[in-house]
Amino acid sequence: MIVSEDPREAIVQVMQALDARGLNRGTSGNVSVRTANGMLVSPSGIVASALLPEQIVAMDGEGTSDANAGRPSSEWRMHLGIYTRRPDVGAIVHCHSRHATTLACANRPIPPIHYMVAVSGGAQVPVAPYATFGTDALADRVVDALDGRMACLMANHGQIALGTSLGMALAIAEEIEEQAAVYCGTLALGGPVLLDAAQMDEVLAMFARYGQTPRAAAPDGGEG
Ligand code: 13P
Ligand code: ZN
Repeated sequence: MIVSEDPREAIVQVMQALDARGLNRGTSGNVSVRTANGMLVSPSGIVASALLPEQIVAMDGEGTSDANAGRPSSEWRMHLGIYTRRPDVGAIVHCHSRHATTLACANRPIPPIHYMVAVSGGAQVPVAPYATFGTDALADRVVDALDGRMACLMANHGQIALGTSLGMALAIAEEIEEQAAVYCGTLALGGPVLLDAAQMDEVLAMFARYGQTPRAAAPDGGEG
């Protein structure tokens, strides 16, 4: 999906895409983008179809927002905590997509069932331990579980995906949901056949130069 150059419009587009694609419903989920001195984050408790760009809340690095702005997402601490710890992250998507949430409610990480599990930045997608939504405790647990990764499940809650851009974070959230659905499907067939650590390491190395990454940046000059 090509998202708007305007970050407020882009957040609205991604919140609506999550809803339209069945990854969220009602007021579930939240989306943010890093700014020069903090972030722009979706407001709390507004359904995606009614969301307007001017309702997106600007916060500084301390979590302060303009007194005239609406209330930011209840998960603003989680979003800000990630931007503080992860300079590589430019955008965040949190959603309650069904299969990722099913696994999160069973506290089951997604094991290396398929090479695309590596979009999470590792050989499996971990589960951050449970804490009440909107709390510092949840923010801390999610930030820890995401160490070096681009996605994790959140126990008894949902999933969260990171990106350098909002389009990337959305794409990873969608792929995590797909892998969660495939994993649930394999469990119904008696369980998956897993890829081994060497196979996943190979994929993780290939992802570093997949697609239209600059050829000069690739370790072997970019061929293949
Ligand atoms: P907000 O509407 O406050 O963003 O909350 C939704 C949610 O998913 C909380 O985890
Ligand atoms: Zn949530």
